This record gives sequence, C-alpha cells and structure tokens, in this order.
Amino acid sequence: MLIRVRRDTSETAVSEVTERLRLAGLAVHRTDHDGQVRLAAVGDDTALDWNEVRRWPAAESVESVPVPFELASRAFHPADTVFSVGRCTIGSEQLVLMAGPCSIEGEEQAFTIAAAVARAGATVMRGGAYKPRTSPYSFQGLGEEGLKILRRAADAHGLAVVSEVMDPKQVEQVARYADIVQVGARNMQNLSLLREVARARKPVLLKRGMAATIEEWLMSAEHVLSNGNHQVILCERGIRTFESYTRNTLDLNAIPVVKELSHLPVIVDPSHGTGMRDKVAPMARAAIAAGADGLLVEVHHDPDHALSDGPQSLYPAQFDELVRQIRAIAGVVGRSV
Ligand code: PEP
Ligand code: MN
Repeated sequence: MLIRVRRDTSETAVSEVTERLRLAGLAVHRTDHDGQVRLAAVGDDTALDWNEVRRWPAAESVESVPVPFELASRAFHPADTVFSVGRCTIGSEQLVLMAGPCSIEGEEQAFTIAAAVARAGATVMRGGAYKPRTSPYSFQGLGEEGLKILRRAADAHGLAVVSEVMDPKQVEQVARYADIVQVGARNMQNLSLLREVARARKPVLLKRGMAATIEEWLMSAEHVLSNGNHQVILCERGIRTFESYTRNTLDLNAIPVVKELSHLPVIVDPSHGTGMRDKVAPMARAAIAAGADGLLVEVHHDPDHALSDGPQSLYPAQFDELVRQIRAIAGVVGRSV
C-alpha cells in the first residue's frame, strides 16, 4: 500500500506512522517527492484495516499500487532514480557507456581494451571473470585473478568496473573489485543471488532473463530493492523468440514500457541482443533513440581469438565510431555522452 503523508506532518509523526505499520508486520520504505513523504508498506497487507489507516491524521491518501513491483514503480517513486558510479551519473541526462571484453583473458588483453574504450568515451569497463557458459567445456573465466586484472586495467584509465557474479558465495569477492555487480540473464530469478547482491551495497546491473516478461524482470528488481539496495540498473539484452537469424531478439519496446512503469535506469546490451558484430551499432543507435540510459557493449581488439563472444565484439575502431554516432543521437533526444 502507498501512503501519501500530509505535507504539514512532523518527522516524529512520520516515524510514528512508520512504526505502527511495522508493528503490523509490514516493511516500510520511504521516498520524498515534491516535498511530500510517501511510504510504501509492503508485505501481507491484510494485517491492517486500511480504512482505519485512512483516518490517521498523517495520512493524506492510502491506495494500493496497481502493479506488483511496488518499490520499483513510478507510483512509489515518481522521479527517475539517479546515482553516481565513478565519473558517471547513471539515470541522469548523461548516458552511461559501459564497454569491454566479454571475458577478461589476461593482462595485455584487458589493458589494451581498457585504453581503447576509455579513449572512445566509455566510463565503465565491463569484463567477465565468472562466465555463465552454455557448455561446461568452454572457457569459464579467470575468477579472482580476472577481477584483479580488470580492476587494474580500469584504474589505469579512470574507468569504473562492472562484472558478473554467478553465485551468492562470490558476491563479497566480486563486490570487492567491481563498482557495479552484474546479475546475468541466466540468473535473473536466482533469488538467493538477488538477496546477496542487495546486501553488497554496490549498484546492481540486472539483466533481463532470456525468457522473462517485463513484469518478471521488474519483480526481480523488486527483490533487490526490498532488501534495501535502491541502486538497480535494468539491462535489456534480448529475449528468446522464434527468430533464428540473430542470437536473441532485442526488445526495444521494453525501454519505453519500463520507463513508464519504473523509475529505474534502463540500459541496453546490443551485443548479446544481436550476437553479430555488424548488427550491434544499428541496435545501439536505436536503443539510445528509444530512450535508453546507456549501453553495455562488448569490445575486443582481436575478436577472432577471443575466448568468448568474439563474433559479437566490436573492434575498437568500430566502438569509437559508434560513440561518435551516439553523441549525435544523444543531442537529438536531450541527452549527452
Ligand atoms: C555477459 O554480459 O557477459 C553475459 C553473459 O550476458 P547475458 O547474461 O545477458 O547472457
Ligand atoms: Mn558475452
């Protein structure tokens, strides 16, 4: 339930309302919007007589939110969620460009690519150290050694770091090296992982599951928010459809749909979304034109020898050209790079 608190209510009275809701077994989350306190009381809301709550002096209105992802909804939090990571303010008019290899393969590879993506204008370096591979015989990532290399390469070029975590037991370690913790498509509904990344108190990049509806995706975000971590970035990375000419079907509809439903920033991964190098730039341009808050792009200086996802990785020069184009589109849609 969403309680809008009367504007003349004292902080003491707001605390009293919060306490009464908590005593009824509900968790209470607060936002301040336009000088008004909004309280989301979530949990088993049959525990209270809401008509009585409506008569509480502090309550201006009490209404149920028409979507199940109450904390992720615009009803609870009308303004866009904005937070800083490194040099970038995610969710603001400034677009965030995250780029780097699919997997960290070694020192030389990581430093070469970090230099290239930083020069082009990225502010966050991506790179997997724990890789969710379809085959158990494929390269599984360098683990902690990979995280160390990624951190050093990013630091050398003033970049923040995003890296995937696959197992709740790895969260503490990944969060030690990364500025943003990535939950991959395959783990979007791994609820123990979501709980653990929420506790890590680092921003979470939550990829959409390959067969997840937008509502399921937002419910996964709700798991992170309800566990006290409000810094969630949604990432559309393509869904599974009947189409076989591309690796996935990048659902650009999701951008305006999520923007209306939720205050959370949304970025797009055109690399996994298409699976093909020559399709990455057109879909990246379209994503920004459609209102995405940024991009996550795979870049490799020697994709023919990449240990994962070479065919969808841009050459550094292609990424550089893409950023030039994104700058131009950003200007048209009131954003900047
Ligand atoms: C990735 O970004 O490296 C990745 C594995 O992506 P996804 O979870 O979207 O497949
Ligand atoms: Mn990849």
